[in-house]
Amino acid sequence: MAKATTWSKPASKALRAAGVKVGSIDTSATPGFKGDKRAGEKLLAERQLVLSDLQERLYANGRSGDTRSVLLVLQGMDTAGKGGIVRHVIGSVDPQGVDHAAFGVPTAEEKKHHFLWRIRKQLPRGGQIGVFDRSHYEDVLVVRVHELVPPEVWGKRYDEINKFERKLVDEGTTIVKVAMFVSLDEQKKRLMQRLERADKYWKFNPADIDERAYWPAYQEAYQAVLDRTDTDFAPWHVLPADAKWYSRLAVTELLIEALQGLKLDWPAAQFDIEEQKKRLAKA
Ligand code: ADP
Repeated sequence: MAKATTWSKPASKALRAAGVKVGSIDTSATPGFKGDKRAGEKLLAERQLVLSDLQERLYANGRSGDTRSVLLVLQGMDTAGKGGIVRHVIGSVDPQGVDHAAFGVPTAEEKKHHFLWRIRKQLPRGGQIGVFDRSHYEDVLVVRVHELVPPEVWGKRYDEINKFERKLVDEGTTIVKVAMFVSLDEQKKRLMQRLERADKYWKFNPADIDERAYWPAYQEAYQAVLDRTDTDFAPWHVLPADAKWYSRLAVTELLIEALQGLKLDWPAAQFDIEEQKKRLAKA
């Protein structure tokens, strides 16, 4: 029997970004978790049930008029595992209760608007877990690295993002921000796998190889994101993502903590239970 293992502290504390230097993140670490891969996978299966129960409560309350929601913001370099989080963490809850949005290169229409325009359209409705696979942070990451707009424009966006998130939180959205970090070597391995396996070709984009040359610029851009948008109301979590089992477990825990924070009871019956039982017995 595997020894019972658990977290030495809540994932939200173990991964808290405050003061982190991007260049010194140990991407293969498993902060806060004492077990190995086997223990992690076993625990994940158990915790997915807890997450699923909490999500159903959120959804049920939403159906009863509760306007609160949870928004998971996933950022990370190519191959960091954002898709795996969507599939293996979010995939364990009822899809009815998930508002999923992936943000790629803006369309011609989106480019005509403020960078938050397309983001606002995809915010989770009350009772939903929203998932942003990439997000408004691309507008200070890829945009900054490739100088897609002048520095005066992207430079203002950190404050705009903080203001935007403050308002979202005030309106009842709990924001869970996760920045996933893999090492340059691990990324190479994952890209190579995409070239070696027929079931992975579809994920390969030749431009991903060119992006590797910009790694230091991305590290700098991520550092600025953590330094300028890690707030009390919408904190960043820095997730070492070389070990997929760990990143999935950690995000599951972060979502559980966020949902538990909402203190979700099941909504009360809006009818007289005894009366309805009697009616049903006769029907
Ligand atoms: P993924 O690589 O996440 O599987 P895509 O193939 O759709 O998904 O790629 C998304 C691409 O869109 C990434 O290269 C990302 O940097 C880019 N992108 C996302 N948001 C923006 C933005 N606001 N401006 C420019 N490029 C963006």
